[in-house]
Amino acid sequence: MKLGISSCLLGTTCRYDGGHSRDKFIVNELSNYFDFEAFCPERLVFPTPRPAIRLVKSDGEVTIRTSNDNEDVTDTITEISKELVKKIEDNQLCGFILKSKSPTCGMERVKIYPDKKNGQSENVGVGVFAKELKERFPYLPIEEEGRLGDPWLRENFLMQVFAYKSLFEFLEKNPNINDLVEFHTSYKYLIYAKSHNAYKELGNIVANRDKKPLETILEEYRELFLKTIAQKGTINNTYNVLLHIYGYFKKVISKEEKDDILETLEDFKKGIVPLIAVIKIIKLYTNKFDIEYLKTQVFINPYPKDLALRSKVEAYR
Ligand code: SF4
Repeated sequence: MKLGISSCLLGTTCRYDGGHSRDKFIVNELSNYFDFEAFCPERLVFPTPRPAIRLVKSDGEVTIRTSNDNEDVTDTITEISKELVKKIEDNQLCGFILKSKSPTCGMERVKIYPDKKNGQSENVGVGVFAKELKERFPYLPIEEEGRLGDPWLRENFLMQVFAYKSLFEFLEKNPNINDLVEFHTSYKYLIYAKSHNAYKELGNIVANRDKKPLETILEEYRELFLKTIAQKGTINNTYNVLLHIYGYFKKVISKEEKDDILETLEDFKKGIVPLIAVIKIIKLYTNKFDIEYLKTQVFINPYPKDLALRSKVEAYR
């Protein structure tokens, strides 16, 4: 699996000051699961070291300027960003990690400076390369390295990356309607954890009551699936999914076992135990009673367990 990445996050010395922004989690952990394709738009058009650049607002318009002599480099950075993004083909990447706060790579809250001395700066800018990337690939999972320090954002991003990859692999196999039903069935609880409405709508697309052609169905499904996995899951939705899953074996277990499981579910909802503790119990009963439907649910195994994304209570809120 390949992730696009801002080069400096890998330790490449391409920052304006000749330094890098090596990120430990990316380099030490994510590199075990992903290949990286690195991009540094600035290095392609300027030497390193070079004057720092920044977003500057003047008469309502945001431009990119060098901080030493206020040279306008908007066109240069915009052109190289467009060119780089054009080189990325559909499905080549399953996600992108951008360097935060950069006027080129920052995904959000990049500082915009006023052009007048007494003006107020605002943290509402978007880096030019990040903007081009989002426009060209609106559903590509994109995050910044700083935000990945938050267990909730990290879990949501990586779940999205694996689901994104899985959808494109599925579509590449020229699926028929039965394949789509099977794919959708395996994602039911993961989708439910994201959005009840999307769960219903995707179910309606797959049911195809209007007898639409397969290509239309697949396109509608693709778009809504990608929109859905881009949403952040909530602890309440996840709790509801767990209750549904519990329903599969509640009639065949003892009262003590039921009380035990329900207490663990409540503890998850209150943020006392991490999701992985509940998933372990679910797996135990799924295997004990050989519940095939649950065994195929991606929600139970959405990514390699070694990532340990569900081991922190902070990963759900
Ligand atoms: S933030 Fe982007 S443009 Fe700046 S050094 Fe890193 S990769 Fe290059």
